[in-house]
Amino acid sequence: MILYYVSTYVSLIASVLFILALRGLSSAKTSVNGNRFGMAGIALALLGTQIPVYFANLDINLSSALTTILIVAVLGGVIGYIIAKKINMTSLPQLLAGFHSLVGLAAVFISLASFFCIYGTQSTNYDSIRALEMVLGATIGAITFTGSVVAFGKLQGIISGKPWRFKGQRQINILLGCCLIALIIAFVIKQTPELLIQTTILSLVIGYLLIMPIGGADMPVVISMLNSYSGWATVGIGFSANNTLLVIVGALVGTSGAILSHIMCKGMNRTLVKVIFGSFSSQNESSNTHDEQSHRNVKLCSPEDAGFILQNANSVIIVPGYGMAVAQAQHVIKELADELKSRDVSVKYAIHPVAGRMPGHMNVLLAEANIPYEDVFELDDINHEFGQTDIAIVIGANDITNPAAKDDPASPIYGMPVLDVEKAKTVLFIKRSLGSGYAGIENQLFYRENTMMILGDAKKVCDNLIKELKDR
Ligand code: NDP
Repeated sequence: MILYYVSTYVSLIASVLFILALRGLSSAKTSVNGNRFGMAGIALALLGTQIPVYFANLDINLSSALTTILIVAVLGGVIGYIIAKKINMTSLPQLLAGFHSLVGLAAVFISLASFFCIYGTQSTNYDSIRALEMVLGATIGAITFTGSVVAFGKLQGIISGKPWRFKGQRQINILLGCCLIALIIAFVIKQTPELLIQTTILSLVIGYLLIMPIGGADMPVVISMLNSYSGWATVGIGFSANNTLLVIVGALVGTSGAILSHIMCKGMNRTLVKVIFGSFSSQNESSNTHDEQSHRNVKLCSPEDAGFILQNANSVIIVPGYGMAVAQAQHVIKELADELKSRDVSVKYAIHPVAGRMPGHMNVLLAEANIPYEDVFELDDINHEFGQTDIAIVIGANDITNPAAKDDPASPIYGMPVLDVEKAKTVLFIKRSLGSGYAGIENQLFYRENTMMILGDAKKVCDNLIKELKDR
């Protein structure tokens, strides 16, 4: 009995630690502590979940149960450590998608296992609620699995990032959705293995069909949405395995993922329903094709010219994007900012909510380079300042500055709030070419009067700019 109470309290403390972890992770300043709370929570959770296994009078004694958990924890820890050491910052989004797919798969296996382990015994029939929990665990898990695999493929570039559309797609999706609901109800009533398998297979197909049409600039919402699904899949695992802690943790992840999806949708001026059902993205080609723009002039700028312009600036806003992550230019950007500050130039950083390839990507990189938090501003807090700024330096960013989002109703990103960099007196664009960004659309800014392009790798260009400034 004592062990039962110990287990309950350990689980309770672990849940509180997870809540503190989420709270800590909500800001870059407190994120390190957030991670610590999370790790402590996981350690306690492993302990707390293992004790009832012993307590349930299964064919396991405490020492073998703890040995098992120790082996699994050490093995998982070593694999996690190797992945964390090896993984590039630029590959984190696909890593997350990969992890989400594993959570989904685990939910499917556990739901199927809980059904099949007593199927055929005398106590074959579950009550309806238990059967519903089981089939929902398999359904959400299967949708999360194939959806995350597709998201992984898109982020890794194995699958085209372009939205996949075909005639009658919406009608087919609605029909499949209705079939799924019918199968779930039928399983709850009849509880046959065939119905559970059919529901799982249909859910796998729906997960694929749900994510394939979403592409381009809308991928951030997909990532946060799958994050939320993986949480609900964990809730399913918790119900199937009769584990309250998993239900709590799953609900925390599911809800925080849903809130994040809402924030991403707000950042992109989309509704979740429109993203999921793919009705927002205009199929029309943007009116600004490369051919139309290529006759326009592009002002190329050398590091020497840029050094001269920067030397005479009073205020600079740095706009980092995915290219900064690719070039790992965050440290050299800090050096550039420090050099400018030493000349009494005001330097601020503007962060777009979908910059990079995962929520908070830029904040993480800037924090890694010890850039002061008070210099970093979110879109809503800084957009009005571009009009009074001498220079906006756009470093490896593209879509998040594209004015097509404001001016071109035919553009797939139309309606998404963007950073108004063009309002600065001069825009210095650092990227390797005039190519497009993730959404695959041209950026009219390259051809504006006040834009100067510095073509090259972000890190090398910033290094050169620092040298130029120091030589003056
Ligand atoms: P973009 O993908 O729009 O643009 C990045 C730019 O960086 C490219 O145009 C590329 O141009 C340039 N670049 C790449 N490597 C380098 C390098 N080594 N040095 C210099 N420049 C480089 O990124 P943004 O951050 O502007 O926008 C994010 C996009 O990603 C949005 O469309 C968003 O919807 C999407 N997305 C965001 C996710 C999120 O959660 N934040 C998740 C998934 C997608 P070039 O090749 O010419 O150098």
